[in-house]
Amino acid sequence: MNKATNVIPIPLKMTTAFIVRGEGTVLVDTGYPGSEDAIIEKLREVDIAPEDVNLIVMTHGHPDHAGSAAKLHEITGAKVAIHHLDADKLRNGIQGELKPARFIGRIFKPFLGRGKSTRYPPLEPDILIEDLFELDEYGVMGKVISTPGHTPGSVSIILDNGDAIVGDLIVPSLLSSKPNIPFWADDRDEVMKSIQKLIDYAPERIYIAHFGGPYTLEDLKESFRI
Ligand SMILES: [Zn+2]
Ligand SMILES: [Zn+2]
Repeated sequence: MNKATNVIPIPLKMTTAFIVRGEGTVLVDTGYPGSEDAIIEKLREVDIAPEDVNLIVMTHGHPDHAGSAAKLHEITGAKVAIHHLDADKLRNGIQGELKPARFIGRIFKPFLGRGKSTRYPPLEPDILIEDLFELDEYGVMGKVISTPGHTPGSVSIILDNGDAIVGDLIVPSLLSSKPNIPFWADDRDEVMKSIQKLIDYAPERIYIAHFGGPYTLEDLKESFRI
């Protein structure tokens, strides 16, 4: 396997999914429900047929990431992987409790913490991720590592080419655009430990799901002073 790996962001409503392309294709996250058409269109734009997607990885089980997983599983036939600690969210199509970790989280909670937007079409995952999951057999040089804190089963994708995709582990400060912790965190201390773990892998370019990025390793070190 020697084809260079590259990351292709798919901008969606309020969030971002990613195509990771090497010899094979891995889709990371799926947006809110109803995002499947935009994702298929992007795949076609870069000459990937839907049935050529080898794996769909969820960074975690929130509706803005796993919302179209069931539809994309059906369209592509690809297996869906999620960390075992977020698997029940996907199985039941529910967001679960949002615990504010930043002031902005407290402001948004009344809008995003309840109602229709907290539910999505459920899916029984094919693969349950533990601490580490290698992507090689799906045609991509890299791995999935657990980076809990935002949710108990949050993961990040670390690619051999120096790119990382970290879901909601990092969400920018809205004024400075600098890296910050997520709006919501199940466990704030775990978030900090996971950011340290990410930094230890020394990725060169860090893709995030919301409001900005990609960041450099220096951006992270400067913002988190670790
Ligand atoms: Zn989230
Ligand atoms: Zn999100």
